[in-house]
Amino acid sequence: MAQQDFAWHKKYNLKPLINVSGTMTGLGASIASTPIVNATAEAMSHFVSIHEAQALASTAIEHSTGAEAGFLTASASAGISLSIAACMTGVDPSRVEALPVDPGPCNEIVIQAGHLCGYGAPIEQAITLTGAKVKSVGQSTLCMDHQVKGGLTSSTAAGLFVVSHHTVHYGQCPLQRFIQLCHDSGVPVIVDAASEYDLRGFIEAGADIVVYSGHKFLGGPTSGIVAGKRDLVRAAYLQNIGIGRGMKIGKESIFGTIEALEEWEKRDHETIRAQENETLEHWLNAISGLPGVFTRVVPDPTGNPLERLQIEIDEAIFGANAIAVARSLSELEPAIIVRNHEVELGYFQLDPCNLKPGQAEIVREALQKVLSKPGYLKNSPEDLEIVRNGGVDAYLGWGL
Ligand SMILES: *Cc1c(COP(=O)(O)O)cnc(C)c1O
Repeated sequence: MAQQDFAWHKKYNLKPLINVSGTMTGLGASIASTPIVNATAEAMSHFVSIHEAQALASTAIEHSTGAEAGFLTASASAGISLSIAACMTGVDPSRVEALPVDPGPCNEIVIQAGHLCGYGAPIEQAITLTGAKVKSVGQSTLCMDHQVKGGLTSSTAAGLFVVSHHTVHYGQCPLQRFIQLCHDSGVPVIVDAASEYDLRGFIEAGADIVVYSGHKFLGGPTSGIVAGKRDLVRAAYLQNIGIGRGMKIGKESIFGTIEALEEWEKRDHETIRAQENETLEHWLNAISGLPGVFTRVVPDPTGNPLERLQIEIDEAIFGANAIAVARSLSELEPAIIVRNHEVELGYFQLDPCNLKPGQAEIVREALQKVLSKPGYLKNSPEDLEIVRNGGVDAYLGWGL
C-alpha cells in the first residue's frame, strides 16, 4: 500500500481524506503552496492600515484581471452580495447603512432561471440579503432575448450572470449577448466566476464586475476577489461599513491572496496540466477493462483548462451502481472523496488538482480494490437520498 503521512490529521484526531472531488468548501477548498502559506502567516504578526492593504490588493487584481480596480472580501458569495449592494447604493454611505431594509427604487436583479444555482447555499439568498429582489427571466432550460429584455426595467439594479457547472448548460443567453442586452438598457453586469481560471476574459467581454474565489483554483486563503469598474468597486468596498461587516476579510487573507494572484501569473500552467493528465492516464490504465467499468477523460464543463477522469459504472454488469462505488471509496482509510454531483446518472469523476505527493498512487490502489470485484458491492436504497441531502444532513447532525 502506498504510504502517505497524515500526521496533521492524526494530531487533531481527524479523518484522513484525499480530495479528488474539486475545490469544495466542505473539504477545505484547496491547499496552499509554501509562498502563499508564508505570506499569510507573516501578515499575522503586523499591524497595517487595511485600506493600504486593500489598495495593494487592488493593484494585484488590476494586474491579474485587467480591471480598473478591485478589493478582497470574505468569499465569492460575499463578493456577489457586496457587488449587488453597490449597484443599488453607489458611494452614498447613508444608502449603504439603509440596507437591507431600504434598498431604494432600483432593487431588482435580473438573472436567467437556468442560473439560479446552489453552491452550498442558494444564490438567491446572496442577492436578497442585500435587500434586492430576484427577477428571474426565462425558464430553466431556455432563456430568449425578449425574456432578458422584458426583465430589464427602470427598477433593475444589475444583471447577474453565473459561470458554473452548477448552471443549465444549454438554452441560456450567452455572456456576450447578456452584457449587450443589459448595457443597451444602461444596466451593469456582475459575473459570478467563482470557480473560473480565466481572470481576464470576463472583464474583456465587458462585464462591469467579476467575482472570483481566492481559495479555489488560486489556492489562496479563504477570500473573495471583486474586480471591475472603479466606481462600482468603490461602492462595493464601501459596503464594509454596512452589510459587508460580517463578510470582512482579515489582513492575513489579503496578503495570502495577493501572493496567490502573483503566483498564478508565474505558474507553469502547461506543465501542471500535463502532470495532471498523466495522473488521469495512470488511473485510467489501472482500471480500464474491468467488467462493468468504463472510463473516459472529460473536459471541464465551463472550459477551464483541465480534464477529469469520468468513471461510468454499468450496474447490470458490475452488480452495484456508481453511488455505491462512490460511497465505498469514501469509507476507505484514507477516505477517497470523488466528484459525485451527477452520480445518479451512473458515473462520478476524479479531479486531479491539488493532490499531494503520493496521493495519486493511493487513489489508484483504492480504485483497483473497489472496482475489481464485480458483484461484491451492494446498492443501498438510501444511498441517493444520502447523496442528495448530505449537504444539509451533515449540518443537522453536527453538534448533537
Ligand atoms: C464556489 C462558488 C461560489 C461561492 O464561492 P465562495 O468563495 O465559497 O463563497 C459562488 N458561485 C459559484 C459559481 C461557485 O462555484
